Amino acid sequence: MSMTITEKILARASGRDHVKPGDNIWVNADILMTHDVCGPGTIGVFKREFGQDAKVWSKEGVVIIPDHYIFTKDVKAHRNIDILREFVKEQDLPYYYDPGTANYKGVCHIALPQEGHVRPGEVIFGTDSHTCTHGALGAFATGIGNTDAGFVMGTGKLLIKVPETLRFTLNGKLPKGVVAKDIILCAIGDIGVDGATYCAMEFDGDGIAHLTVEDRMTICNMAIEAGGKNGIIAADEVTMAYVRKRTNKPFTPLASDPGSAVKEARTYDLSKMVPCVAEPNLPDKYAVAADRADVKLTRAYIGSCTGGKISDFIMAAQIMNGRKVSIDTFLVPATQEVAEGLMSEHIDGKSLVEIFADAGCLDIAPPSCAACLGGPLDTFGRAQTDEVVISTTNRNFIGRMGSKQAQIYLASPYTCAASAVTGYITDPCQFL
Ligand code: SF4
Repeated sequence: MSMTITEKILARASGRDHVKPGDNIWVNADILMTHDVCGPGTIGVFKREFGQDAKVWSKEGVVIIPDHYIFTKDVKAHRNIDILREFVKEQDLPYYYDPGTANYKGVCHIALPQEGHVRPGEVIFGTDSHTCTHGALGAFATGIGNTDAGFVMGTGKLLIKVPETLRFTLNGKLPKGVVAKDIILCAIGDIGVDGATYCAMEFDGDGIAHLTVEDRMTICNMAIEAGGKNGIIAADEVTMAYVRKRTNKPFTPLASDPGSAVKEARTYDLSKMVPCVAEPNLPDKYAVAADRADVKLTRAYIGSCTGGKISDFIMAAQIMNGRKVSIDTFLVPATQEVAEGLMSEHIDGKSLVEIFADAGCLDIAPPSCAACLGGPLDTFGRAQTDEVVISTTNRNFIGRMGSKQAQIYLASPYTCAASAVTGYITDPCQFL
């Protein structure tokens, strides 16, 4: 019987020939990722349930990436990182990316694939809802809570109900100025923030071939904003090239069988898409950017696991090159690799760093989640009062970026940058 890619990965990881939506199965994990916010809680559960002297199920399988509250004076945030350090030392774990060292990486969902921990066909659990990002490389990846993560840490297994699949077929090619963020904001706008609850959001179609791995990450990253269990795109040659550059470990990709049954199928003509925003205070509040040109902004924010990749900064720089921003513009590279790219990538002979400085952006922050999640009061870019922010992040809930009075508009890097230049929500096509 035919299966979707999600079903096939879960079947293989549970040692079965076949699974169907609704089956409850024990799944073997390939990777358990945790960070500074949930790592201490996960470790606490692991020790409570398996004993103070217990060892993790696999040293190679546990990846710990502190990223959330790194550049702050908050002592509780520092204490969390100390707990991670002690645990890594005690367990002799090889994959720990320690703040303050050359091994520090930054935002977990971008660092994990960059460091070769995400491989097509594998199962990734992470103590963060945006773990769904890794479906972009053809993996089954989902966020779990500390209790489940503590259990995975001890056993390498988790009981999973096989999700139904919503299939989004993306055909054609995006027009200039329209990018992956516009696709996912459009899809979430169509189905709503609960439209994919406990479903796999599978993206296929001939349009996928025109999307880079980073584009695909942007799309899968926001599956959880529609309640999705996972987002997933089958690996192709683009994926393989990305993964093989970053790991020598063997893996076996899987793909949906032709005609595999899904709960619902939708088709999008990418050539018809336009630059958009999600208005406050939910990611499904879709609006065409050009229709919101009267919205006055007070700041722009480019960063996070959704919109802080090097491709995102290249888009922003294409717009800002030779122009000035008119509102406070905060830039936070997701990872150290992205931060290095800001210096090595050039447009018209100028590095991205030079372009952003000439445009009048604020100093570029070191890589971390920064204000995507608000964070302690001294967090770079944190909304402190009634700011009206346009942001490349993924959530615009009340208080998400720090202040309950702030209003957050989600948008692509192109739209954010164009809006930073004018001070109003702006369709970026006029600048491209
Ligand atoms: S960048 Fe934002 S969404 Fe991504 S992991 Fe950090 S806090 Fe979460």
